[in-house]
Amino acid sequence: MAASTVRINLDGKPINPLTILMIGAGGFIGSHLCEKILQETPHKILALDVYSDKIKHLLEPDSLEWAGRIQFHRINIKHDSRLEGLIKMSDLTINLAAICTPADYNTRPLDTIYSNFIDALPVVKYCSENGKRLIHFSTCEVYGKTIGSFLPKDSPLRQDPAYYVLKEDTSPCIFGSIEKQRWSYACAKQLIERLIYAEGAENGLEFTIVRPFNWIGPRMDFIPGIDGPSEGVPRVLACFSNALLRREQLKLVDGGESQRTFVYIKDAIEAVLLMIENPDRANGHIFNVGNPNNEVTVRQLAEMMTAVYANVSGEPALEEPTVDVSSKEFYGEGYDDSDKRIPDMTIINKQLGWNPKTSLWDLLDSTLTYQHKTYAEAVKKVISKPTTS
Ligand code: NAD
Ligand code: UDP
Repeated sequence: MAASTVRINLDGKPINPLTILMIGAGGFIGSHLCEKILQETPHKILALDVYSDKIKHLLEPDSLEWAGRIQFHRINIKHDSRLEGLIKMSDLTINLAAICTPADYNTRPLDTIYSNFIDALPVVKYCSENGKRLIHFSTCEVYGKTIGSFLPKDSPLRQDPAYYVLKEDTSPCIFGSIEKQRWSYACAKQLIERLIYAEGAENGLEFTIVRPFNWIGPRMDFIPGIDGPSEGVPRVLACFSNALLRREQLKLVDGGESQRTFVYIKDAIEAVLLMIENPDRANGHIFNVGNPNNEVTVRQLAEMMTAVYANVSGEPALEEPTVDVSSKEFYGEGYDDSDKRIPDMTIINKQLGWNPKTSLWDLLDSTLTYQHKTYAEAVKKVISKPTTS
């Protein structure tokens, strides 16, 4: 969109151009949000991250239409005095920075807790003290396990949505015991949500909290040994993509029985843009952002990705495309899992009129097409290199 076109919000009012500080702009969600804002709005972005690889196409060359509207700041928010100044210069801060990969929660619990709670504290404090609006990224994982998961396996109540649909204003947060360090992430995210909520209640902080439910799409995480560490364990989309690219079996943790709902990143970003441009409707709210229609077990996800990738690559799937592994073997001691994640959509429908559009098959088709184009050649080269013994 031309930067001069006036944009209108959901209440028919013109939207003034904003300066947005985006912390974690170089990550998966940040890169898509930067793209959307630059392509469709007149807003300016102060993009903060320690990495910029995923947004380098937006930062150079200078001749791009939006060249003057994005500025990259290579800053680690753990220890940088420039943070408060950047918050003061902006109308809105969006905080995406986090360690948010399950393989880290039980193996690097201290880093996980520091990243998701301690490092976010100054961001909340500076926004509150300077009267600046904050959109903070939390997670659906704050819900933990469903109430239904504690019922006997054959209980008919397990089929009742009251026992599994996750609602922002009524569902409890149910985590495992302390030695199940998997929950270090969810617990840190829950505490920062509570702190933000309290800053709103006691000091008038204008905030919105986002709980993403498995947003997936291009540029998510990394492919081990290609653009990330060989021994690294990314989230499930990249784990399964990696196996498909290498023609290896997809590993199903504890039988792949857990259920997830997956939403296409481009649908989810539409919801965030609505929050940015409709503060009167978004402030003071916590929003589930997911696609309740795209529910599968992890095993079904593996089967679907295998079928889609065979179409995309033109190579037939392996005869036995999956293999079961124990969570202890795959993630190590202290792993635990969320059983099922269906977002209730009442609040986001009512406040922002948002609904996801893309089916799981379609989103996997565009995402795996991207993975194939981006990585297939590089993976082939790595595989064909003789290994040194
Ligand atoms: P990501 O890891 O791709 O992006 C996070 C970015 O934050 C990275 O680029 C990282 O370099 C940056 N960062 C981390 N610590 C930093 C620091 N100290 N200083 C500066 N930059 C730092 O993750 P994502 O998937 O884009 O997730 C973004 C947010 O959304 C996170 O808060 C995450 O917990 C939340 N979330 C995402 C999902 C999802 O489905 N993708 C689900 C639940 C929650
Ligand atoms: N998982 C799996 N194989 C993998 C990676 C993940 O079976 O190679 C499972 C994991 O145990 C979880 C689900 O896939 O049940 C989703 O994992 P993800 O890393 O995307 O994060 P989560 O949704 O748990 O936050």
